[in-house]
Amino acid sequence: MKPFQLASRDACQTDTIITIATPVRQVFIGEGYCTLIAGPCAVENRHDYLNLAHHLKELGADILRGGLFKPRTSPYSFQGLGRSGVDILNQARLETGLPVITEIMDVRDLDFLYPHTDILQVGSRNMQNYTLLEELGRLDKPVMLKRGLSATIEEWLLAAEYLLKGGNKQIILCERGIRTFETYTRNTVDIGAVPVVKQLSHLPVIVDPSHATGKWKMVTPIACAAIAAGADGVMVEVHQDPDRALSDGKQSLTPDNFARMAGKLIQHTLINHKQGASQLLL
Ligand code: PEP
Ligand code: MN
Repeated sequence: MKPFQLASRDACQTDTIITIATPVRQVFIGEGYCTLIAGPCAVENRHDYLNLAHHLKELGADILRGGLFKPRTSPYSFQGLGRSGVDILNQARLETGLPVITEIMDVRDLDFLYPHTDILQVGSRNMQNYTLLEELGRLDKPVMLKRGLSATIEEWLLAAEYLLKGGNKQIILCERGIRTFETYTRNTVDIGAVPVVKQLSHLPVIVDPSHATGKWKMVTPIACAAIAAGADGVMVEVHQDPDRALSDGKQSLTPDNFARMAGKLIQHTLINHKQGASQLLL
């Protein structure tokens, strides 16, 4: 028996496929699909977020991202709109019909965030916040677990085990780069982790090439590498004006660059015998 009992393929021979339903579409995450999650690092204001959300929908995004609670290295950096921004995220969700994902940093925000989000994200810095994981493990809502900055694959899967042990089966793993001696990129993308985790576990694996590299010019090549390596989708940061972004502008794609990346990923998706992840209901 592997140390990560429930995440392991021994526990579940079939791949976990997560279905997220909104009134107008179904989105799938898991083996056989290529799910595109896109949006700014942080929700900054209503006007820009709504414009971008509509634009991303037209360009083929399946799920919208947008941080409200931002885990910033410096306490003096923009910390996100917090609870006051949830209404903006919710409006984008209702107007576009796209599901949304946002990060939860503190278990005290769970009841507040729960009704307004389709996937809850656990950021790298909280991968081993076991109290938070235990609470999210009791939910009937998908959770995306980002790999810790310095976590081994086994530690990552054991963190997923905390979520699964509570009964939540809808867990998505996200590789977002790890700390190494290399300083040219923000983190070092562990593309090898994708086939390893897909072999060890039945859970979906998404790659975040934005935080993994820190450089927008690297996002498309790494996104393509991720899908070629067997990832079930990517999560990328997109900003309408990256130079003015309040966080992570250097790694943010413009909508035009997102469109180019999506075009390239469609080719890789076909080669990999994967499908687009959205099914429209109307
Ligand atoms: C994020 O995706 O918003 C984020 C903060 O990423 P990470 O937790 O991987 O640093
Ligand atoms: Mn970011």
